[in-house]
Amino acid sequence: MSETIVIVGAGQAAAQAVDSLRRAGFAGRLVVVGDEPYLPYQRPPLSKKFLAGELPLERLTIRPASFYEGAGVELRLGVRAEGLDLAGRTLLLGDGERIGYDRLLLATGSQPRRATVPGHDLVGVHVLRTIADVDRIRAELAPGARIAIVGAGYVGLEVAATCVALGHPVEVIEAAPRVLARVAAPEVSAFYAAEHARHGVRLHLGTGLAAFLPRADDSRRVGAVVTTGGERLAADLVVVGIGVVPNTGLALAAGLACDNGIAVDAGCRTSDPHVYAAGDCASQAGPRYGRRVRLESVDNAFEQAKTAAANLLGGEVVHDRVPWFWSDQYDLKLLIAGLAGEHDRVVLRGRPEDRSFACCYLRGPALVAIDCINSPKDYMAAKKLIAEALPLDPARLADPAVALKDAAA
Ligand SMILES: Cc1cc2nc3c(=O)[nH]c(=O)nc-3n(C[C@H](O)[C@H](O)[C@H](O)COP(=O)(O)OP(=O)(O)OC[C@H]3O[C@@H](n4cnc5c(N)ncnc54)[C@H](O)[C@@H]3O)c2cc1C
Repeated sequence: MSETIVIVGAGQAAAQAVDSLRRAGFAGRLVVVGDEPYLPYQRPPLSKKFLAGELPLERLTIRPASFYEGAGVELRLGVRAEGLDLAGRTLLLGDGERIGYDRLLLATGSQPRRATVPGHDLVGVHVLRTIADVDRIRAELAPGARIAIVGAGYVGLEVAATCVALGHPVEVIEAAPRVLARVAAPEVSAFYAAEHARHGVRLHLGTGLAAFLPRADDSRRVGAVVTTGGERLAADLVVVGIGVVPNTGLALAAGLACDNGIAVDAGCRTSDPHVYAAGDCASQAGPRYGRRVRLESVDNAFEQAKTAAANLLGGEVVHDRVPWFWSDQYDLKLLIAGLAGEHDRVVLRGRPEDRSFACCYLRGPALVAIDCINSPKDYMAAKKLIAEALPLDPARLADPAVALKDAAA
C-alpha cells in the first residue's frame, strides 16, 4: 500500500518540502495542512513591497496552484491541525477530519510576540506576520497617519522605511540602546540608525513600552504610545515588531521534545521517529554550532525542508549550511552570512559613510559572520570563507582593495 506523508503548516518550508519530496520520487499520498487560506507564500515582501502596495498578492505565492495539482498534493487550506496522536500516527484537523500518516513534517513557523502592556488590545495596534495582518494595516494607512513602531529589529526597521517612504511620520521605540542590538555589531546599528534618522524616522532608543492610550474621540482606537521614559507619542497606527515565538503548541501537546522550538537533530528528526520539523519552528542541534540553533529565515526554512524531505524518505542527510539572511531598507541591501554573536571582534571593510561596506565578525582568526551593506561581492566570497573557517589576516580583510577571497593569512 502506498505511504502517506503529511505536512503541517503551508508556508516557506512546506512549499520546498513538497518540491523536494516529489523530485526525490515520493509517489505516495502527500497532504499539506495550513491554517491560512492561501497557497504557501513569501513573507519577506510583507514588510517591504507588499506593504508599500507595490507588489500584487499573486506575486507573493511561492508556487502556483498548478504546481500542487501537478504534484498530486492534497491541500487542506484554511484549516488548523488541532491534535497529533503520535502513537496512532493520526493528525486531527479543526474541521474534524482525521488523517493517518506514515511520516509527518511539522513546518508550523512562528508567530509574533505580542505586547502585553495596558491598551495592547486597542484597535490600531498590529503585528505583522501574515497577508491578513498587512490587509488590516493597509486599511488603516490613511494619508498622513502617524505610525509608531515598537521594536527596532529587521521587521520594525523595514516597516519604518516603507512607511516613511509612503509619506507617514514614523516613530520607533526600542528598549535596547541601539537598533538591531540582538543581531548586529554597534557599527552596523549606528549606520542604520543614522540612515533612518536621515529619512526622517524618529528613533527612541533605550526606552521601553509602557502603555497604549486610546484616542480622545474614540476610546476603542489607539491614539498614543507611552514609553517607560514617560514620553507620550501620538500615534494613529502601531506596529509591534518585538520578535517571534515558535509555533510549538501542537508538538508540545503531543509530547514531542521542545526547547525554544521543536527539538530536532541535524537531520531534522524530532523525538518521535515518524515526525520531522523544519523552518522557524525547529530548534536544531547541528554540527556547526555545537548548540541548539533556531533560525528565522527563508534560507533556513528552504534548506531544512530539503534535509527533512530527504530523511523522510529514508536518507541520512545532515544539515550543515552557513545560514544567510537579507534585509531591504531604503536603497540599502543588507546581506548577512553566518551568525553574529559567535565572534570575539569585528573588522570593518570599507567606510559606512560610502554606504557600501562590510562588517566582518571574527572568532580568533576565522570569519564567523558578515553583514554586507550594498556590497554583494564580499557576501559571495564570505560564505565560502565562513564555511571553510580559514585563518584570515585582519589588515588584508580591512582593506577593500584586497579581494575578500585573498584575505587569508
Ligand atoms: C514581515 C516579515 C519579513 C521577513 N523578511 C525576511 C527577509 O527579508 N529575509 C528572510 O530570510 N526572512 C524574512 N522573514 C522570515 C521568513 O519569512 C520566515 O523565516 C519563513 O517564512 C519561515 O518559513 P516557515 O515555513 O518555517 O514558516 P511560515 O512561512 O511562517 O509558515 C508556517 C505556516 O504554518 C501555519 N501553521 C502554524 N500552525 C499550524 C497548525 N497547527 N495547523 C495548520 N497550519 C499551521 C502558519 O499559520 C503559517 O502559515 C520575514 C518574516 C516576516 C514576517
